[in-house]
Amino acid sequence: MRNEIQHYINGEWIDGAGGGYIDVINPSTGEVFGRIAKGTKEDVDAAVEAAESVYREFRNMPVGDRQNILDGIVTEYEKRKADIIKAITDELGSPKSKSEKVHYEMGLTHFKAARDALDDFQFEERRGDALVVKESIGVAGLIAPWNFPTNQTSLKLSAALAAGSPVILKPSEETPFSAIILAEIFDAAGVPKGVFNLVNGVGDGVGTPLSEHPKVRMISFTGSGPTGSKIMEKASRDFKRVALELGGKSPYIILDDVDVDEAAKSAVQKVVNNTGQVCTAGTRTLIPEAIKDEFLEKAKTYMDAVVVGDPNEETTMMWPIISEKQFNQVQDYIQTGSKEGAHLYHGGPGRPDGISEGFFVKPTIFTEVRNDMTIAQEEIFGPVMSVITYNDLDEAIEIANDTKYGLAGYVMGNDKDSLKKVARSIEAGTVGINDAPGRPDLPFGGYKQSGLGREWGDFGIEEFLEVKAIKGYYA
Ligand code: NAD
Repeated sequence: MRNEIQHYINGEWIDGAGGGYIDVINPSTGEVFGRIAKGTKEDVDAAVEAAESVYREFRNMPVGDRQNILDGIVTEYEKRKADIIKAITDELGSPKSKSEKVHYEMGLTHFKAARDALDDFQFEERRGDALVVKESIGVAGLIAPWNFPTNQTSLKLSAALAAGSPVILKPSEETPFSAIILAEIFDAAGVPKGVFNLVNGVGDGVGTPLSEHPKVRMISFTGSGPTGSKIMEKASRDFKRVALELGGKSPYIILDDVDVDEAAKSAVQKVVNNTGQVCTAGTRTLIPEAIKDEFLEKAKTYMDAVVVGDPNEETTMMWPIISEKQFNQVQDYIQTGSKEGAHLYHGGPGRPDGISEGFFVKPTIFTEVRNDMTIAQEEIFGPVMSVITYNDLDEAIEIANDTKYGLAGYVMGNDKDSLKKVARSIEAGTVGINDAPGRPDLPFGGYKQSGLGREWGDFGIEEFLEVKAIKGYYA
């Protein structure tokens, strides 16, 4: 049983003002496996005071010193590899190999990428007799979700530190232990007191006071649209900046000259990856009518091969949904798909055969989906593929963009002109052609209701900066 019921404020582990705690559930068993502090407004106030007290000094720290801090974090992060992997496996339910190759590695990548981005980041630029200066916006509140715990916390932390912003991190209450290890890493790396603060707790108890606090100048949030909207409303009262990474319902457009087997394999992977709990998941699979039957047959074979189960087994390819609430949400969407007239082609409601506990779901394919159905418009956050057919490229593009979201899009095929046309036409912050891999130096964020602002690399650092024009500086 993990019992880590303190916050990290001003370089110290301290008890919370309220003294309460929250149970944390292992999604594979549904049982409590640890507890964390339940933070309050008083804890947020103490953390903001600590951050505010070091803001001016940290803002003015030479960039090379901030790079040294990031280097120190990388060194300590690597030392804690086994602990991070274990924490993620316990709290998210992913097998150790995934906890390592996806979650541990992504966290490491962001600290390194932010450090490298500082190598040639232009904080100052001369324009005639004027100087344009970019400097830290001030104290930042970082509010993270549970689906990629170390990715999202490390991403925000690395960008804020690179920009010279002291922070208060509020990780998800579902996956707090990897963030607690990060606090230990920052402590061991000698991050100056007050620059990094961790307050654990729930949204209302910690996220709300952070979003309302007048000394917090920016909130960087990743999570659901409704929560993003509440944060923005609170932040608007004193004109805080917000960076919001929200949901998605991304199209995956398969061209008619594709290698169908490759496309089916890739489509299934996009849906089952991280048990579908991926904001960029390409869950609207757009397939030419002419190759639909061949595609579905192959997609079914790939889905049948997905091993769902115990994260302690390294053969496991799909693990549980994070919580009972999310499990029920996925089940409801599957029921809704059938009720609205989509054809349940594979999978369906309930747990997979042979599994009676934990929040496990079946990888599922719906066919005969219309783009106005609920399962094509709303983010399910589970392994559910909605297959929609099209007759020509313009129709595919129209369907792809007929959504309130705009986080990501994908296209696969051979004709270069068609690939480029589709990629340029998709209204989303990221488009992947033929499964080109992600890169930490590329911007990440959403159009429309998928968010505001960009993260990753130098784009992420920009979010935490103000711009000042000093006229006559060189006169
Ligand atoms: P959520 O919005 O419920 O919670 C996210 C975080 O916000 C948690 O730390 C939570 O405690 C906190 N929070 C909750 N209510 C709050 C409030 N009123 N004020 C301030 N903070 C509050 O989302 P979740 O369930 O953790 O994550 C799932 C959602 O996140 C999905 O919709 C998914 O698409 C989205 N997501 C988006 C991205 C992205 O980069 N675009 C990445 C991951 C997840």
